[in-house]
Amino acid sequence: MAELNAFITEETVESDADGPLSGKTIAVKDNISTEGLRTTCGSAMLEEYVPPYDATVVTRLKESGATIVGKTNMDEFGMGGTTETSAYGPTKNPVDHSRVPGGSSGGSAAAVAAGDADLALGTDTGGSVRNPAAFCGVVGIKPTYGLVSRYGLVAYANSLEQIGPLAPTVREAAELLDVIAGPDDSDSTTREEGADSNYAAAADGDVDGLTVGVVTDLVEGADDRVVEVFEDAVADLESEGATVREVSLDSLEHAVQAYYVIAMSEASSNLARYDGVRYGVSASSASGGSEDGRSESSGVSGGFEGNWNDSFARSREAGFGPEVKRRVLLGTYALSAGYHEKYYKKAQDARAWIKRDFDEALSEADVLASPTMPVLPPKLGESLSDPLQLYLIDANTVPVNLANLPAISVPAGEADGLPVGLQLVGSKFGEAEIVRAASAAES
Ligand code: GLN
Repeated sequence: MAELNAFITEETVESDADGPLSGKTIAVKDNISTEGLRTTCGSAMLEEYVPPYDATVVTRLKESGATIVGKTNMDEFGMGGTTETSAYGPTKNPVDHSRVPGGSSGGSAAAVAAGDADLALGTDTGGSVRNPAAFCGVVGIKPTYGLVSRYGLVAYANSLEQIGPLAPTVREAAELLDVIAGPDDSDSTTREEGADSNYAAAADGDVDGLTVGVVTDLVEGADDRVVEVFEDAVADLESEGATVREVSLDSLEHAVQAYYVIAMSEASSNLARYDGVRYGVSASSASGGSEDGRSESSGVSGGFEGNWNDSFARSREAGFGPEVKRRVLLGTYALSAGYHEKYYKKAQDARAWIKRDFDEALSEADVLASPTMPVLPPKLGESLSDPLQLYLIDANTVPVNLANLPAISVPAGEADGLPVGLQLVGSKFGEAEIVRAASAAES
């Protein structure tokens, strides 16, 4: 288990409840609050943070009889696509230990792929469930925004993210989604949909009469080896009775830019709470007095010394890694007076356009298909040096979050011995449709 570094904390929490997940083990991403169990978000900032309450999804897992086996490794605060920005070291891809498992829910996908857990929860802000599912050869679902409660999820970018299941098969992923889906009084963005869901029943492999729209914009930029596997998977769906047609969404060329402006803006605001006083490690005691010489204790509890700004800055300097700092800086910039119109407002306009384009495409097709990731899993250490390159591998996943739609990644086959994922996108609350299509695609 330790070999892959899939877990930040290994600890078993049993449930006495008798439910649909009795006898199943589950790994939980380390940005989902677990009462009494350390929750670090992959950050040194939260190394010692133990939440006093369970996230709603964790309460539902416990009620369903599942046994939690630990908290999984992740890119720091979910910021990354390879699990290499974690303060706890990278996770290895179980299929090829020299490669990344994808991210940011890389620990969750690796744990399932390696058989260290039957199931796992991840979170998907711009692809973080689907990306590692594709790279590790397992199934991952990003639910419609509002289907699953975010109460107790440590926020990265609230308007984009959802908690989602990872599992070896489509049916098992759907069973887990049935457990966590549905309205929650503690999260006003949840909807009635999913209250009595039975997505697992939709995993019947019946695609007769289903129309699959191939999103050409998301195939063109992909690696040839990925495209070959993707095309075979689509041809299989066609031979099973689906109708395949091509669709094109002009807005998608702006999706990565729009996503990063919005995600970083929301992140810069969400991460303001980590100052060593409200949340996070306090670095003030370690580094002595402040630069302006006012080093006397102010008398505030928690080891606070000097002026507030210096103390906050020391904590944030010590507690955040380079990728998080980059995003807080860029997000703050994008929201600042004078630049707000130029960046944030434009990104919101692009988001609205992407939503309209998806609505139109989904009026012509029941589900939309693309490769989940445009590339094969990179080697460990290969992508960290070039953040822009890292952002670009999200091209096929981020549009779905911008449009608040559901999507699934299902193993489509292998290229050079490495897993390739097929992404199927559905209409709002159309989880049953994507589960059905994915169950037909799964070999
Ligand atoms: N790779 C994307 C990012 O870094 C998506 C991450 C996620 O979904 N949490 O923002």
